[in-house]
Amino acid sequence: MKMRRKILLPLLAAGVLLSGCSRQEQEAAVYDESSIAMGTVVTERVYTQGEDPTADVLGTLSQIEREYLSWREEDSAVGKINLRAGKGRISADGQTIGYLLDPLKLAKKSGGAFDPTMGKLTRLWDVEAEDPKIPSQEEISRLLEESGYEKIHLGAEEDRGWVELEEGASIDLGAVGKGIGCDEAVAFLKKDPQVKGAVIAVGGSVLTLGAKPDGTPWKVAIRDPRGGQEELLGVLELEGERYVSTSGDYEKYFIQDGKRYHHILDPATGYPADAGLISVTVLGENGALSDGLSTACFVLGLEKGAELLKEYGAEGIFVDKDKKVYVTEGIREKFSLEASGYVVFPFPS
Ligand code: ADP
Ligand code: MG
Repeated sequence: MKMRRKILLPLLAAGVLLSGCSRQEQEAAVYDESSIAMGTVVTERVYTQGEDPTADVLGTLSQIEREYLSWREEDSAVGKINLRAGKGRISADGQTIGYLLDPLKLAKKSGGAFDPTMGKLTRLWDVEAEDPKIPSQEEISRLLEESGYEKIHLGAEEDRGWVELEEGASIDLGAVGKGIGCDEAVAFLKKDPQVKGAVIAVGGSVLTLGAKPDGTPWKVAIRDPRGGQEELLGVLELEGERYVSTSGDYEKYFIQDGKRYHHILDPATGYPADAGLISVTVLGENGALSDGLSTACFVLGLEKGAELLKEYGAEGIFVDKDKKVYVTEGIREKFSLEASGYVVFPFPS
């Protein structure tokens, strides 16, 4: 008798779950969209019982880029702050202050490995130019002198604030922009209770939200840092609301005399970061943090990067030049390695 009840209960539970699934499957439609926003490819898959939200998500991303984050737009919040460098305080709305606070905190916590003032150096290197060149040490030193996160000063008052940039400094949120995009996409989708699940990739920053109608986990692919566009290092299986950002030396780079010059700069030297890692994936509590941490850890390298992740309670997958793949305990079971030539190791503790 006792045994029968034990068997029956799980079956009942499974029955409820299954009928719940099929009902959702009938009602939730799937919408797929792939387009360009925030200077990168945005891929969306949304399951919803309501209208297709994918165009509005794209619109939100473009608006945030244009009105707040872009250093190219003189009229964006960041553009206006940069124009005022060396000329005193400029007032800023709560949203702008919100976008700046966490990156500044990360800059301090990472000892400056993450630095939201690397824009001028990034443009000097211009690794995506048709005929890229290694800049002179003199130019690098001059721009390094002008940059530095400690040259950004800000004050927050209720829902407004002010920002002051020292002469020569300029803000570049390139390393957190796509993560901020993920945060904004989630905020938008959460407003609609008919949205049941979504997976959205803004370049190398991916968010998962809710669930698929069939109840199987989301699959987030991580690129093989030494493979072609379509080749995978492995797959992460995730459930619910998660943020996954990857930074690597394979995204934007040029090779000269056998050496790779890529787009993630070490603020200590002004040269492309060279701490032994080739790809860093981070799962943090929101998109901006995951994106910022992936850049910071890339610059810091395995040991110091691991310490920073721990401080933030984040998970990660670090790949070094020897094709060793270090995976944090919390996601070890969720990650399956697919590329050959790589070996998984436990994360340094
Ligand atoms: P991606 O933009 O390709 O996703 P990242 O998130 O790692 O890559 O950000 C790299 C961008 O951030 C660079 O293109 C540059 O604009 C800026 N950047 C470069 N080095 C740093 C750094 N050490 N800290 C903060 N931002 C950086
Ligand atoms: Mg980043």
